Amino acid sequence: MSVDAIDVVRHPTARRVKLAFDPASGRVRLTIPKRASAKKALAWAAGYAEWIAAQRARLPQARPFEPGATIPFGDVTLTIIWREGSSRIVRREGDTLTLSGPHETIGRRVEAWLRREALRLLEADTAHYAAIAGVSVDKVTVGDARGRWGSCSNSGAIRYSWRLVLAPEPVRRATAAHEVAHRVHMDHSPAFHALVAKLYGSDPAPHRQWLRTNGASLHWYGRSSSTGAG
Ligand SMILES: [Zn+2]
Repeated sequence: MSVDAIDVVRHPTARRVKLAFDPASGRVRLTIPKRASAKKALAWAAGYAEWIAAQRARLPQARPFEPGATIPFGDVTLTIIWREGSSRIVRREGDTLTLSGPHETIGRRVEAWLRREALRLLEADTAHYAAIAGVSVDKVTVGDARGRWGSCSNSGAIRYSWRLVLAPEPVRRATAAHEVAHRVHMDHSPAFHALVAKLYGSDPAPHRQWLRTNGASLHWYGRSSSTGAG
């Protein structure tokens, strides 16, 4: 196991050395106390090489956005089709995502298209639930936070992961209902959960569970390697 495959993080309040594996990024994180020896900690982590290899073997596959690749998109599956031509525009035609232009920018352009669609759909979901709840939402934005599907600020801005557009539609909508309910309750109290269920119209728990079980795999779309970023 190479040392550069491990991110060493010195933590001011850590009491002991800790090893963690992030299935969303495929990276291993070694947390060490402020004054501990990094060299010793790495030697200790090397003893877990087998465990790390097993975690890596179970990782979802990197799914680069390239011609022929398929992308889950709500309740349908889109196939990327490249056609001869110079247009850089990405166009959805039924179950295909068609584009021309330079190969080097296919991944970037497909991701930009997905982000725009995510924003459009999540803005509509948010407006829908905000109207039922009788609350205002200042602004909806999308980002690419790992392990965080949505967040709601005190000022009423809601930020989602654009990757929710890769999840089944009920999962995306349940996340919007969850964040909108935070405009009323800034906690996860029983009253909050009752409001989410009321806004969503049925029990959203299975859809939140779907994200806990499958969410990490959504982070592997648009990536070209199994360990690095990109
Ligand atoms: Zn919450």
